[in-house]
Amino acid sequence: MNTDGAREPGVVIVGAGQAGAEAGFALRSAGYTGAIDLIGRETWPPYRRPPLSKQFIAGDGAPEQLLIKPAAAYHKADITLHTGDGVSSIDRARHEVVFADGRRLRYRTLILATGAEARRLPLPGSDLAGVHVLRSIDDALALRRHFRSEQRLVIVGGGFVGLEVAALARQHGLQVTVLEAAPRLLARVVTPLLSGFYVDVHRDAGVRIELGAEVRGFVGAAGQLTAVECAGEQIAADLVLIGVGARIADELAAAAGLEVEHGVRTDADCRTGDPDIYAIGDCACSWRPYAEQHLRLESVPNAIEQARHVAQLIAGKPAPASAPPWFWSDQYDLKLQMVGISGADDQEVVRGDLAARSFMVFYLRAGRLIAVVAVNRVAEFNVAKKLVADQVTIDACVLADEARALKDFCS
Ligand SMILES: Cc1cc2nc3c(=O)[nH]c(=O)nc-3n(C[C@H](O)[C@H](O)[C@H](O)COP(=O)(O)OP(=O)(O)OC[C@H]3O[C@@H](n4cnc5c(N)ncnc54)[C@H](O)[C@@H]3O)c2cc1C
Repeated sequence: MNTDGAREPGVVIVGAGQAGAEAGFALRSAGYTGAIDLIGRETWPPYRRPPLSKQFIAGDGAPEQLLIKPAAAYHKADITLHTGDGVSSIDRARHEVVFADGRRLRYRTLILATGAEARRLPLPGSDLAGVHVLRSIDDALALRRHFRSEQRLVIVGGGFVGLEVAALARQHGLQVTVLEAAPRLLARVVTPLLSGFYVDVHRDAGVRIELGAEVRGFVGAAGQLTAVECAGEQIAADLVLIGVGARIADELAAAAGLEVEHGVRTDADCRTGDPDIYAIGDCACSWRPYAEQHLRLESVPNAIEQARHVAQLIAGKPAPASAPPWFWSDQYDLKLQMVGISGADDQEVVRGDLAARSFMVFYLRAGRLIAVVAVNRVAEFNVAKKLVADQVTIDACVLADEARALKDFCS
């Protein structure tokens, strides 16, 4: 406490999403006793986004079910949660954040967990009623209101979010078209083998997929969407979901003079160039020792791991070495899980049968296992995570042989 009774400046976390909330609670778990302020622009307390593109938009579950912790848990943990409150700048010289209405709050340590926003398309008609994005609870509630059987849904973008919604929509009787600008689906994140697998899965389920599709704009009548204009064709539509990735929320950091390049640049400990400012989660482009490069990752496991790492450091405790990134996606009856980062030149080895919808794909670099993608192989995936973390050397033929148990390769 100060002599005037005010609390000493502690940790201020800007961004009350998955990473920010986790950082707050992890600080308490690590024994940190100072003040913690968690500041979020959204009016909801921190919540999990993955269900938004899965069951949530097709069901009637309450948004409260998505909360990472009940609101009372913040009070109990002595974390001051500011909702509906945006930070508009950082005054590094004075160690203060400045709220949109001009209020100031001092910090000893600042954690930037500002995440990302849904990217929109600057195309004619993108402001028509019926054109949606999907990042927040409010976006999902808006989409859910129209998510009904027989509606014609056009999804712009064949990434994970778009494809998860496509799967859900088919399961609920909507007519679905996916328009992807690249020559294959999921082009940024998986190899052509897996892109091909997912094209077949979706086409078999009745999704129209157009690759190399150039969307020119959205057509409407009386302010309401009626069609999507693509390559000279007007595709009739009641609903559009624009799923073309995220825009990184790194402008606060940039305006404060921190290094920003594909996200807020940090070292392996998530420290920015300012020793009192960390960046974690979707907004951070961090040095990844296992990949020997800076990478920005958009995943819940990454947000949680970085939050816990930083909390340990701030509490003066040793922080664990970072593990290879992993991710999951649910589409139809398929649980996809992936760990590690592969490149175009890595050797690809398949274990199992793609047609049976249960298989693993291993990626080897100079004989070392560096990444694995698993579809409906949950138990084996847990073993694979350990093998990738250890970068074990394994013979490709042995990996492909289903008669050999994966756990036999663990040290
Ligand atoms: C529909 C959808 C499905 C997903 N599915 C999966 C999945 O299956 N598996 C998986 O691993 N990942 C998934 N993800 C990704 C995952 O949700 C994100 O990686 C994760 O939410 C990142 O957490 P974050 O805290 O870094 O960012 P966010 O969750 O984006 O939170 C950042 C918060 O900071 C706030 N903020 C930004 N700027 C300010 C400011 N200046 N002042 C105050 N507040 C601010 C934002 O409003 C936001 O609430 C999905 C994402 C979406 C959108």
